[in-house]
Amino acid sequence: MKILNGKKLADKYIRILSRQVATMKKRPVLAMVLVGNNPASKIYVGRKKILCEKAGIGSQIFTFPEKTSEKKILDLIGSLNKSRNISAIMVQLPLPKHIDKDKVIEAIDPRKDADCLHPLNFGRFTQEGEKYSVVAPATPLGIIRLLEEYKVKIEGKNAVIIGRSNIVGKPIAQMLLNRNATVTICHRHTKNLKSYTQKADILVVAAGKMNLITADMVQKGVVVIDVGVNRGENKKVFGDVDFKSVSKKASFITPVPGGVGPMTIAMLLWNTVKLAEK
Ligand code: NAD
Repeated sequence: MKILNGKKLADKYIRILSRQVATMKKRPVLAMVLVGNNPASKIYVGRKKILCEKAGIGSQIFTFPEKTSEKKILDLIGSLNKSRNISAIMVQLPLPKHIDKDKVIEAIDPRKDADCLHPLNFGRFTQEGEKYSVVAPATPLGIIRLLEEYKVKIEGKNAVIIGRSNIVGKPIAQMLLNRNATVTICHRHTKNLKSYTQKADILVVAAGKMNLITADMVQKGVVVIDVGVNRGENKKVFGDVDFKSVSKKASFITPVPGGVGPMTIAMLLWNTVKLAEK
């Protein structure tokens, strides 16, 4: 079994980006919008800021209390869209319930959409593949780069994805399909999950449920990508896969932490630099 070391590869991308940024006339700047008190969101935004600094990318964090009106957020997005100093914008999700997430995402200028969530970018990405859209969703892009780095063959493989969100499940399905895998998407309503996972050559798990995947559910030699982030006892972070048992059967596996997470941030910064270049 080999570990797919996302931390190491993310560090490599940060170094590549910092060299690239050093040659740019104008420093890219990422604006991050954080609404409310979600502790995980605060941690994520903090990490993104630190890695921006490492890559030489500027960052501005706009923090708002939980009860902030939707209009206030939309007004901020409007002014960030106009600002010549801001290259890219990301809104940390989830937003409080009284704010319409889709409305906020659609308010972002597609030319500044760091997460590739705007329907125009997501649609372009879905129809034409990431080669033709300026940005790609960060988590799936990070997964693909990780598979490429370790020379994992995708073409002709059975790829099974658990989860169908717009940020992970759907776009990673599209990216694997574009690379000629045979793709199956499972979700909460899938009956007999094991009958699908057992056929997977590549298994991507993004459900947010600790220990969802156990050793009996996978075949020998499977490549496992664990996207899940779950807090266990003492706030320790776990994925969706029972790493201890599944790693004994896998040919490659991502650890949690240190797998998909760091790659997601590195790819968000990648998108930021690409948007600044445009
Ligand atoms: P989500 O929370 O929007 O949805 C979860 C998906 O999993 C749904 O499609 C649901 O149908 C499916 N699901 C849930 N329980 C299931 C079960 N028992 N069997 C089969 N399918 C099931 O998804 P998301 O936003 O993509 O997040 C998924 C997980 O990935 C979360 O733990 C999240 O924190 C994590 N995440 C991590 C990163 C990272 O960079 N590491 C990035 C994004 C999301």
